[in-house]
Amino acid sequence: MPIATVNPATGETLQTFEALGPEGIEVRLAAADEAARKSRGTGFAERARLMERAAELLEEDLDEIARTVTTEMGKPLAAARAEAAKCARAMRWYARHAEELLADEHPAEADVRDSGARAARVVYRPLGVVLAVMPWNFPLWQVVRFAAPALMAGNVGLLKHASNVPRTALYLEELFRRAGWPRGCFQTLLVGSGAIEGILRDPRVAAATLTGSEPAGRSVAAVAGDEVKKTVLELGGSDPYVVLPSADVARAARTAVTARTQNNGQSCIAAKRFIVHRDVHDEFAARFTEGMAALRVGDPMADGTDIGPLSSERGRADLEELVDDAVRLGASALCGGRRPEGLDRGWFYEPTVLTGVTPRMRIHREEAFGPVASLYRVDDLDEAVALANDTPFGLSSNLWTRDEEEQRRFVRDIEAGGVYVNGMTASHPALPFGGVKRSGYGRELSGHGIREFCNATTVWYG
Ligand code: NAP
Repeated sequence: MPIATVNPATGETLQTFEALGPEGIEVRLAAADEAARKSRGTGFAERARLMERAAELLEEDLDEIARTVTTEMGKPLAAARAEAAKCARAMRWYARHAEELLADEHPAEADVRDSGARAARVVYRPLGVVLAVMPWNFPLWQVVRFAAPALMAGNVGLLKHASNVPRTALYLEELFRRAGWPRGCFQTLLVGSGAIEGILRDPRVAAATLTGSEPAGRSVAAVAGDEVKKTVLELGGSDPYVVLPSADVARAARTAVTARTQNNGQSCIAAKRFIVHRDVHDEFAARFTEGMAALRVGDPMADGTDIGPLSSERGRADLEELVDDAVRLGASALCGGRRPEGLDRGWFYEPTVLTGVTPRMRIHREEAFGPVASLYRVDDLDEAVALANDTPFGLSSNLWTRDEEEQRRFVRDIEAGGVYVNGMTASHPALPFGGVKRSGYGRELSGHGIREFCNATTVWYG
């Protein structure tokens, strides 16, 4: 895949970039290695100052960087601005909380004596250089939710960003440099995915985190496993959105439209499978379809656009194949199911609700990365949970019911890294984020996220 900025709203190639060769990679690895050794010596106060400064600069740049993001991957401009603002908030959150999250732990006195020690404690030390392989869909947020905790813990970051967001990738390197982070603390590597194995095998790289598709995760984890290096994987999702009879159906349907179509439908934590109890199915289906059909598809730079183009021609073709396969096998589209008229230049697709989806269809088990919803009708909570779990993925989940017993059973039985009750999934710096099954392992954000790339060191005093 060439490293290039291609506007998905027009298909026009705006800029291509030369990939780094072996020498360029070596210079950056050496700088990262040196920065990692020095970084151990800096304290939380100094790192927090630099992180706060990065947040400030990002806020100053909000309009400009939002336009870059929209130009490169097509999300509506307001969504790009919101993403940048969220990054600044997460930077500040880690600037303020990293020290307490990584405070030394002191086991109980009796246990310390039982271990034969006078004293013992656990200290969290950085691992060193962490390689971050990131996707284009939230091209600022995915990087910052790794970088803010990693840098605050004293690690250094090497970013291999998706090949279609090079301007955003270079902006992020520049942002940390302008904020005053020492040379080598955060660098962008303009390389294709073929270069990752060599970089990951380099002894100066301690660990890797990957957000992206399952094949990419498998490939990076295989190399890291061979090298016995720590990884965190944040992969795909096909989150269930379960609506039961006691739910506020109007609110559930309104929220469902946003939950499915945020980011032009290209979000790992978007709700993708709508599993609705028969008592409220028809009302939900009517309201949801009405909301989906009313969305305005068009130029992502224009005010009032709800849905921009998909990020690539390949991405749209993949989505079309999933819909066509479902329709061929008996599903029907309550709305959408095709490209919008009059938008021929970019990679647009109409918001779509599919009904009559069955396990024979690819969309039942694969991730639909675009504004396409699958709608199912069930008889009770047990059937809903069984269907919700009938997927290789396990990222997040949504449950709409006012019944506390149903909520308790769902939390007990669902195979997912998150349960959002009477609301839609959204990440927050204070809450751990990640999945189970083919959605990956490890956690980002919160104390769990910052400790992933730390060496929890036992210090024992005889
Ligand atoms: P992708 O094709 O897997 O790309 C993600 C990153 O991995 C890019 O930097 C890509 O580089 C690199 N890559 C691709 N193939 C690779 C390989 N074989 N070995 C090593 N690196 C490889 O994913 P995408 O299409 O950009 O993103 C969409 C996917 O990401 C969806 O499945 C979505 O659910 C998932 N996602 C998950 C989360 C989460 O937190 N769980 C968040 C966002 C997205 P190139 O661009 O150079 O190919």
